[in-house]
Amino acid sequence: MIYTDHHVHTRFSPDSEADVVSYLMRAKALGLKSIMFTDHVDFGTKDKLFQEIIDYGRYFELMKRLEGEYEIPIQVGVEIGYEKDHKAAIDEFLGRFDFDFVIASIHYGDGMDFYLGDFFYGKTQEEAYRRYFEILLEMVENFSNYDVVGHLDYITRYGPFEQKYYRYAAYKPVIDAILKAVIRGSRGIEVNTSGLRGPLGVTFPKDEVLKRYLELGGRTITIGSDAHFNGDYYAGILPQVDRLKGLGYEGVSSFIKRKEYFYPIEFKRNSLGYE
Ligand SMILES: [Zn+2]
Ligand SMILES: [Zn+2]
Repeated sequence: MIYTDHHVHTRFSPDSEADVVSYLMRAKALGLKSIMFTDHVDFGTKDKLFQEIIDYGRYFELMKRLEGEYEIPIQVGVEIGYEKDHKAAIDEFLGRFDFDFVIASIHYGDGMDFYLGDFFYGKTQEEAYRRYFEILLEMVENFSNYDVVGHLDYITRYGPFEQKYYRYAAYKPVIDAILKAVIRGSRGIEVNTSGLRGPLGVTFPKDEVLKRYLELGGRTITIGSDAHFNGDYYAGILPQVDRLKGLGYEGVSSFIKRKEYFYPIEFKRNSLGYE
């Protein structure tokens, strides 16, 4: 199968205990031609857990060794937690290692964390979502050292709101500005299937945004499960290929050594999935 899961966390991420080798075994069992890991490296977070950066010298060595041992190509990506005051440090970090793929995500803003919830204090739902999109816009307008934007409407996963759904129309100007900046910079977005496994039951971003991206001329798109457990690896990837086709997408992107490869979506399915 040619479609690689482009968003996978291992025990090297502070919020995952997933064993690297078990992912390799799963990828092989699924008949995948390669595997990609995208562990967390967050800059500017207040969350102590996320402040420790992986020893990438050893990480790359380990991956090289496992690649030989398990006979499956391993691509090393990274999910950067972006914060504007740390832009120079992020560029410096990315310049030091030979990553295959970089996801840029907003996990916190204005010195507050979405996951820990403090970002939402004193804000209405609309204010919180709008501020999140503004922070994301600031990122794509000022930072270009990434390949895709992670989980574009991820804010909807968090927050103390009973009804977490949002309408694209309510945030159209800021979301359109984000998508246009991504396209203008020849960058891409990901479709993150983790939301399908949660209470929202939608991808990040949701279909309305995926449609709009295409309409505005967006083409580069990767698919990732955002697995933090071995059992979530490759979850929803193939159904999402079908869904993208249904939305009008002609292909799915893949990255090796920061170079984009575009795989046209074909409907040559066998019992195991795509050839
Ligand atoms: Zn993330
Ligand atoms: Zn992630």
